[in-house]
Amino acid sequence: MTASIIDGKAFAAELRGKVAGHVARLAADHGVVPGLAVVLVGEDPASQVYVGSKGKMTVEVGMRSFTHRLAADTDEARLLGLIQTLNNDPEVHGILVQLPLPAHLDSDLVINAIDPAKDVDGFHISNVGLLATGQKAMVPCTPLGCLLMLRAHHGSLSGMEAVVIGRSNIVGKPMAQLLLGESCTVTMAHSRTRDLAAVVRRADIVVAAVGRARMVPGDWIKPGATVIDVGINRVDAGEGKTRLVGDVDFDSAAAVAGAITPVPGGVGPMTIACLLANTVTACCRAHGLPEPEGLTV
Ligand code: NAD
Repeated sequence: MTASIIDGKAFAAELRGKVAGHVARLAADHGVVPGLAVVLVGEDPASQVYVGSKGKMTVEVGMRSFTHRLAADTDEARLLGLIQTLNNDPEVHGILVQLPLPAHLDSDLVINAIDPAKDVDGFHISNVGLLATGQKAMVPCTPLGCLLMLRAHHGSLSGMEAVVIGRSNIVGKPMAQLLLGESCTVTMAHSRTRDLAAVVRRADIVVAAVGRARMVPGDWIKPGATVIDVGINRVDAGEGKTRLVGDVDFDSAAAVAGAITPVPGGVGPMTIACLLANTVTACCRAHGLPEPEGLTV
């Protein structure tokens, strides 16, 4: 193996430590406690786990956590009413609606009902526009975590060739915007890209966000490139067990890459840490306080 491992778990622990420090200072100096409200509609088992760990980590860094669990058949008016209440609640600085929502609810409508200043997921159309135009936005957590790790690893990314595989609104598109903001030359690849292998071979930075187990083999990777694997895929591990793998074939890619994030333990832990960081940023902006360094871009 030639690649160094980008340890997302360690980065995330460090970022949560920074967040906790800022939370303590906000309380001591200004009597302000950042609060994060998470709304879960329905009983999707994976979402239940995510919401549980978000609440736990919010409390661990000293912030207030408000979890709202609504029945799967909750109607649009009820959900929009709750969002309005949270928008108006001064103790709530961040609002996150856990996706996916049940099919009868329109996620675009629901997300765009969140006050953009409290939209700590960064999915509101205003934040998407602010990010695209290079203005101060709430930045989506997963791409923010990827960028913080890339910056820590490389320092300046200026002039580097970056290839983002996947064009979703929650990962691929904002990731490309962030890399463009760092003055990378950015290529967005997706399911209709021709000769994906040749496109990926140009990249100094590869971000894979597809959702297909090990689809990027090592021989697509330029020697020395940095590989950020966003994918989370559950595969059969034999004897009735399963395990998580990324979108990149880790063993073959690590043999040629300069640096690589593992799955699990790479991008995943940074996502929740960035959610906490975004909540502190939103709280500081809401109170007109200076924004702490290193929590956002
Ligand atoms: P998505 O399904 O919304 O988007 C997938 C994208 O991949 C699409 O834009 C599609 O064009 C592209 N794609 C599909 N097949 C392709 C192919 N053969 N070649 C090239 N591109 C192809 O997925 P998403 O929400 O962006 O998530 C992507 C992956 O990242 C999933 O595995 C998801 O679980 C994971 N994820 C991880 C985190 C985290 O915190 N680590 C957060 C969000 C998503």
